[in-house]
Amino acid sequence: MSGITITGVTVYKARLPVVSERRQGSGITKDAITNIFVKLDTDAGIAGWGEAATSAVFPGGTEAHMAALHVYFRPFVLGADPFRIEALMERAERAVVHAAEAKAALEMALFDIVGKALGTPVCNLLGGPYRDEIPLSYSIANPDFDADMEMAKRLYGEGLRIFKVKTGAASHAEDLRRLETLRAELSPDVDLRVDYNQGLDVFDAIPKLRDVEAFRPTFIEQPVDLNRLDAMAEITRAIDTPIMADESAFSPANALDIVRQRAADIIAIKVMKGGMMNVRRISAIAQAAGIPCYGGDMAESGLGHLAGTHVIAATPNISLGCEFYQATYYLKEDILAQPFPVVNGKVQVPTTPGLGIDVDEDTLAKYTVERLN
Ligand code: MG
Repeated sequence: MSGITITGVTVYKARLPVVSERRQGSGITKDAITNIFVKLDTDAGIAGWGEAATSAVFPGGTEAHMAALHVYFRPFVLGADPFRIEALMERAERAVVHAAEAKAALEMALFDIVGKALGTPVCNLLGGPYRDEIPLSYSIANPDFDADMEMAKRLYGEGLRIFKVKTGAASHAEDLRRLETLRAELSPDVDLRVDYNQGLDVFDAIPKLRDVEAFRPTFIEQPVDLNRLDAMAEITRAIDTPIMADESAFSPANALDIVRQRAADIIAIKVMKGGMMNVRRISAIAQAAGIPCYGGDMAESGLGHLAGTHVIAATPNISLGCEFYQATYYLKEDILAQPFPVVNGKVQVPTTPGLGIDVDEDTLAKYTVERLN
């Protein structure tokens, strides 16, 4: 209870230009990503911001998430007390199935308001900072591999030590060639990881992954179809390198199935998997099974990354770094009023109230293609 009332819900669809093509989920993103932003105004003069990154996972996601926020959530959010986050998220859960990203956007904006109202960063609402900075991973995902090699060398110079290679889109031989090049041309202290985005067939995944293991990746992410937990379990048993579930682990119920079948050694959390509190539920189930988590993303701007940063800061079990590089290295221009905080290859946990940095409304307006209020 706060005595604060939400008086406005504005939903923005924004097309954010990017610097290069890249593999995102199962498709290729060309020149821009389209994300949804939500602004909640209150009678206390405090505004909260949220983001839904909709470029992956569900086809037609952008319009579906706009509708979830504007048509289904707006009626019960208007007039509500923003401090009742659990109750409002339960209403959202009942209002529409799926739309995990839209739910994440709503929850993010509510936490932003509460943090600002109490004058404290969001991580303090989640147990306080267990860590003050998070090692940053950059994804080698450009179809132009040589361009990404140059980028990787530049980022190494800026302090980054984690690189994640997207595999399974090119041929197996080409994937091995890329891994060989990365190992040969980058320093031996680089932490190399591999993400298949479900790209392998079940029947020959194990022999292919045995080839990949020669390049000593720290983990191999989502080698096969998200629904094939039986195959994920078989691969986890057969391969020495830790196997990470990403697309297979979208909800706490998924995490429970993974634990029961021991279908992964690591789970990728993402704020877009239903919000910060859902991420904590997934992480808690994983922790009980001795499974650490990693901070993934779905091509959010700096705003979504701030929410991810706060939840990782406050959750000891999310211990394998994060991939919040879009705002700094992938978008031509981020929508935050100040740069997303990366220093020496590590994301810095904000110490200012709420999510920590506000959206620059002029910049957002520049890229907004549709607005509903
Ligand atoms: Mg992934």
